[in-house]
Amino acid sequence: MKKASKFEKIAARCWNLLNEGKPFTPIFVIGTMLLYHFNGIVEFTELKQLALSFILVLPLFVIYYVYDYPLFLRNYLWIPYIVFLIIWKFVNVKLLLLAVGLYFFFTVFFWGTLYYHLRIGTTWWNFTRFWKLVLKNSDSTSGNAQEQLPKFLLLLSLWEYNYVQMQHGWTSLALGQMFGYYIFVLAFSWILHRYLFDWKPDIISTYTNNISVPERPLNEKVIVIVIDGMRKDRFEQANAPFLKSLRERGTEFTQMETVYPARTVVCFTSMFTGTYSFEHGIHSNMVWKLGIKVESIFDSLRKIGKKGRLLGIAHLVDSFGDDVETVTAVMHNDVADKNIIERAKLIMEEQDPDLFIVQLIATDQTGHSRGVLYDEYIEKIEEADSLIREYVEWLEQKGKLQNATLIICADHGQADGIGGHGHLDEGERYVPFFMYGPSIEQGKRIDRKHSLVSLAPTIAYLLGAPYPSHSRGPVLIEAIRKKGNDEKAKSDRIFTGT
Ligand SMILES: [Zn+2]
Repeated sequence: MKKASKFEKIAARCWNLLNEGKPFTPIFVIGTMLLYHFNGIVEFTELKQLALSFILVLPLFVIYYVYDYPLFLRNYLWIPYIVFLIIWKFVNVKLLLLAVGLYFFFTVFFWGTLYYHLRIGTTWWNFTRFWKLVLKNSDSTSGNAQEQLPKFLLLLSLWEYNYVQMQHGWTSLALGQMFGYYIFVLAFSWILHRYLFDWKPDIISTYTNNISVPERPLNEKVIVIVIDGMRKDRFEQANAPFLKSLRERGTEFTQMETVYPARTVVCFTSMFTGTYSFEHGIHSNMVWKLGIKVESIFDSLRKIGKKGRLLGIAHLVDSFGDDVETVTAVMHNDVADKNIIERAKLIMEEQDPDLFIVQLIATDQTGHSRGVLYDEYIEKIEEADSLIREYVEWLEQKGKLQNATLIICADHGQADGIGGHGHLDEGERYVPFFMYGPSIEQGKRIDRKHSLVSLAPTIAYLLGAPYPSHSRGPVLIEAIRKKGNDEKAKSDRIFTGT
C-alpha cells in the first residue's frame, strides 16, 4: 500500500482548482477566451484589449465567485443572462458553442472518463453514463452543469461584448449602464441567497459544556471508521450484516447531520475539531491557506501524552498536517479499501495509537464515477462491511479492543448525479452513525437530531482529554453507559460475535 507522494499531494491541490466550482468558473472562462482569441494573442495585437476588457467584467467574476447559487437557486442564474440579452442584444454563437463544447469535453471525457480511468481504473466507456450524471448534478463542483453553463455563458458574452466595444471606444453612458447591471446582479444574488437559501444546518452557539471530562478515561482506545460518502438510505438497502449487527448491539444516532458545505475536507475538519467552517477556516476541498485555525482532537490528545492518527487521503493533510497517514488515491477502486485496511493493520501494529481514524474511500469514489443510484455503489458498501469485519476481528485477536469504543459513520452522503455533495441535496444531509463498545449503551436508538461536530468532544470525553479549543458539539452522552453496569458489560461484550 503506497503513501501519497509529494507529487500526488501537489497534483491533488491543482486538480481542486478545476474540480471545485468556484475557482473553475474564472479559470475556464479565461482559458476559453484565450483559446478563442489565440491568433490575435500570438501576434500581440489583441492581448492588451483582452486584458482591458477583462477588467470591465471583473465585478461579475467576483459576484459569481462569492455566490454559488446552490440547488434550485441555480435556475435563477438564467435571469441575469436573459437581462443581458435584452439590454445588449449580443450573441457570439461561435464563442458560446466553443465554450459549451469545451465544458462537456472537460467534464465528460477528461474528468469522467480519462481521469477516472487513469486514477481508479473506471471503464473507458464511462462517458456513456457520465454525461447524464453531469446534467443532473447539483453539488459545488465544476461538474454542476446547471450552475456552470449560465455562469460562463454570461461571463464570456459580457467579456466579448466589452472587447468588441473597445474598438469603438467607450462612452460614459455605456460604462454607467454596465455598472448599473452589476449592481442589479449583485442585489439579485444577495436577495436570493439571503431569503431563499434556508437549509443550512443550525450552528451550535456555545462551546461544548454539557458535561465535563471524567478524571479517569473511560476507554483506552477509540477507533473511528469513516466510510466516505456512504449514503444513509443506500446503507439500509445494502446487505451489510456485520455493520448492522454492531449497530443493533450498540447505540445508533438516526438523525446525525453533516455540516455545510458537505465537502470531504470540510466535514473531516469539523468532525475532528468540533466546530464549523467559519471557525476552523476550511471552506471547501480547495484549501488556500494550509492548516486549521483551531485545535483538533489530535492536539487535545497530545496535551495528555496520547496519540491520535488519521489514515486518509492526501487532501486531509491540508487540515491536519502530520497527524495524517496518507493513502494514495491513485489505485484501482476495486482494491482501494482492501489496501487501506492492510495499511490500518500495519499502523496499529507499529504505532498503536490511542485514537485511530480510518477513512475508506471506495464507496465515495464509486458514487462519484458511476453514480449512487446504481448497483455498483451498493456493492462497495457491502465490500466495506466485510473489510471492516476482517479488521475488527484482527483488532480483537491482537487484544486492541479490550477497552475500546468503535465508531462507524460517514462524513456526508451523496446526491444523484456525479455522487456530488456540498449543498445538502437529497441524500447528503443525514449520515449513518453508530457506536459500539463496553462503555456504550446496548441496543439504543437516538432519534434526536445531532451533528457530526459532536464527534471530537465525544472522543475527548472517552479518552479523558480536554475538549479541542473551539469544540461546539455536545458530548454524545446518551450513548454512554451509566456507571454500575460497567463490569457486567465488559464481560459480555464481544465485538465480532452476533
Ligand atoms: Zn467525503
